[in-house]
Amino acid sequence: MKLPFAESYKTKMVESIRRSTRKEREKWMGEARYNLFNLKSDQVFIDLLTDSGTGAMSDRQWSEMMLGDESYAGASSYSKMKNAIEEITGFPYFLPTHQGRAAENVLFSTLIKEGDLIPGNSHFDTTKGHIEFRKATAIDCTIDAAFDTTLDHPFKGDINLDKLEDVLKNNPKEKIPLIIVTVTCNSSGGQPVSIKNMKAVSQLAKKYGIPVFFDSARFAENAYFIKLREEGYGKKSIREIVLEMFSFADGMTMSSKKDAIVNMGGFIGFKDKSLFEKASMFNILFEGYISYGGMSGRDMNALAQGLWEGTDFDYLETRIGQVAYLGQKLKDYGIPLQYPFGGHAIFVDAKRFLPQLPKEQLVAQTLAVELYLEGGVRAVEIGTLLADRDPETGKNRYPELEFTRLAIPRRVYSNNHMDFIAAALFNVFERRDQITKGLKIVKEAPILRHFTVSLERVQD
Ligand SMILES: *Cc1c(COP(=O)(O)O)cnc(C)c1O
Repeated sequence: MKLPFAESYKTKMVESIRRSTRKEREKWMGEARYNLFNLKSDQVFIDLLTDSGTGAMSDRQWSEMMLGDESYAGASSYSKMKNAIEEITGFPYFLPTHQGRAAENVLFSTLIKEGDLIPGNSHFDTTKGHIEFRKATAIDCTIDAAFDTTLDHPFKGDINLDKLEDVLKNNPKEKIPLIIVTVTCNSSGGQPVSIKNMKAVSQLAKKYGIPVFFDSARFAENAYFIKLREEGYGKKSIREIVLEMFSFADGMTMSSKKDAIVNMGGFIGFKDKSLFEKASMFNILFEGYISYGGMSGRDMNALAQGLWEGTDFDYLETRIGQVAYLGQKLKDYGIPLQYPFGGHAIFVDAKRFLPQLPKEQLVAQTLAVELYLEGGVRAVEIGTLLADRDPETGKNRYPELEFTRLAIPRRVYSNNHMDFIAAALFNVFERRDQITKGLKIVKEAPILRHFTVSLERVQD
């Protein structure tokens, strides 16, 4: 018999989670004003809100925590982090930051000014937030295939080179401080970018003299997809692919809460010393001295170790395999999904799940609320709420895609949990025709409103 797949790790420590009744969940959801961010963790049975900072650290990472060097300057923890970043990504300069958006804040303070244009592939929400906060504009140049959820395209994170060149050609160079390529592309469904596309973007950027930065939270998952899907990469190791990927970038921002499998942390990588030096000033101002930037020595140690583990093939196969296991179950149940399955999450196509709801009634959020009520599973909306209002017109932006995202934390849940999630969503799918009313906004913040928004059910 062919030996089946099995996880590349075993469990040494466990954490209890609690089931609840539907009645309890109804009450809690009302108290949370239909915003899943307002739920307490013990009101959630399986938490798929995010894969960010929610992973399980390994025994080696915990050991590294004990070896943390908390010296203000010259700490060995700094050197460990520097070595890991340099060997894995190839960037000789780096700045530690407390998380990914802090890396964006430091880098964008260095590069972006009012009126600038920043082309990229479906910029992540904090990235866009930091761009718009500076009164600059993010321009989405993702390929059109990304917006057809039924299309099984291997690299839906790719940039449309014509769209990109249009932006570069028709605007003065001074207005385009950088191009941002998000790997994998979170907003379009955890979809990877091909090496071929990275190379082409890099060539185009060179032609117009504009630097390229990778928003790299899930760079290792992107590399795994390249290995599996891109011609000529099947025999290369994940680390070889990662090095090649970053050879096409001038730098990177990193949320280490994803592929470095730590609970908090981030950094910026640079090829260029002078840009690193300019950014250092903002790092010192916002984050801390350049040798720790908002992180403890022990956290830098765990991060360095996590970068090694996160770029290990067996780990990635286990992780992405689990996401695909859930995806396949949902597919078998006939639930409309984004294809192909993303690296960190399954994206449920809420518009096709609940076609009867008008877009004004927050379709993906409504589905997330129903899933929670059904099984205590907490998902997250990637749709109208997340898209915020247009900063100029103040009108709601209705994205082409409305997703209810099931993000899978790294090394945390078993496939039994995946079965439970699939069954809960199946039950909602069975009664979808009875969901005739969505939600409306009662109170919201001007930027990144999804975190704090208050909602209520639409009445007749
Ligand atoms: C999570 C994430 C960020 C922001 O990182 P935080 O650590 O949450 O601040 C930026 N870009 C992408 C693609 C992300 O997934």
